[in-house]
Amino acid sequence: SITSGEQTHSGFVAIVGKPNVGKSTLLNAFLGTKVAPTSPRPQTTRRGVRGIHTSGDRQIVFVDTPGLHKPKDALGKYMNHEVHSALADVDAVVWVVDLRHPPTDEDQLVARQVRELPKPLFLVGNKTDAAKYPDEAMKLYRALLEGRDADLSDTMLSAQNNPNAVATLREQLLEILPESPFFFPVGPASDQSREQWAAEIIREEAMKKLRDELPYAVATRVNRWTEREDGLQRIEGEIVVEKNAHKGMVIGSGGKQLREIGQAARKQLEVFLDRKVYLGLEVIVIPGWREDVEALRELGYE
Ligand code: GDP
Ligand code: MG
Repeated sequence: SITSGEQTHSGFVAIVGKPNVGKSTLLNAFLGTKVAPTSPRPQTTRRGVRGIHTSGDRQIVFVDTPGLHKPKDALGKYMNHEVHSALADVDAVVWVVDLRHPPTDEDQLVARQVRELPKPLFLVGNKTDAAKYPDEAMKLYRALLEGRDADLSDTMLSAQNNPNAVATLREQLLEILPESPFFFPVGPASDQSREQWAAEIIREEAMKKLRDELPYAVATRVNRWTEREDGLQRIEGEIVVEKNAHKGMVIGSGGKQLREIGQAARKQLEVFLDRKVYLGLEVIVIPGWREDVEALRELGYE
């Protein structure tokens, strides 16, 4: 039931920042559920996942973005493009920074992108729970926005364990939404298909386990999802790698690593679906998929 009418307020809010600062964690916290994969690895988020939060007659559509970074290949270009198009179309921007560390070149890159944007900007200093000098760090980040006073607010929080602060920020965002009909039905927290969502959970677990350069050479997809009479969800997925040599590295000796990835992903899926899950995983090779526009499209990076 999409609500229309003059009383509703709705708009898009982009969550931007360099890789690994906690953008996806904050999105999940805003929604109180998991719509986006998170991990200690940069580049865990590849798509601009949208999260939808409706409160009474107001609806925010959050756009989680990949971290802005220097692109090295076609996948990297796709990811930066996701960020730029997100910024052009939104009503407000949340810039997330990591207060455990002072700003880097990458933060300056982001600051340059957002500083001049004529829309409300919310600077979020994240990871206060783990930061030694949060106030000092916040000052340095604020300095990157020097010259900008209008429509700027900032807050310090922990996306991981500060639900009240996250809710307060969400309230502020609800306040600035323009008058508009809702863009999405009330209810679902995301516009992803369940297959895309599950594939991202599988990729998150794969990225946590895999070493060094390998995670970036991995994509995932879910090809089949059926439900048995007794409620068991039967999900069949693929882990896609670039080279034959990588296949064995994902599978591990005696299949141990693939089994561990599968078990961890299955557990997450069961928690969020609240159903028993059977997860079948296969590793396939698509040579050079990261440079192959056709393959990228097939894997959902359009
Ligand atoms: P993204 O790349 O910006 O989307 O970052 P993620 O949301 O994937 O988070 C990157 C890493 O930072 C993960 O290991 C998160 O668990 C961790 N993280 C996120 N928020 C917090 C926080 O508030 N405190 C701490 N200590 N870690 C966090
Ligand atoms: Mg992310």
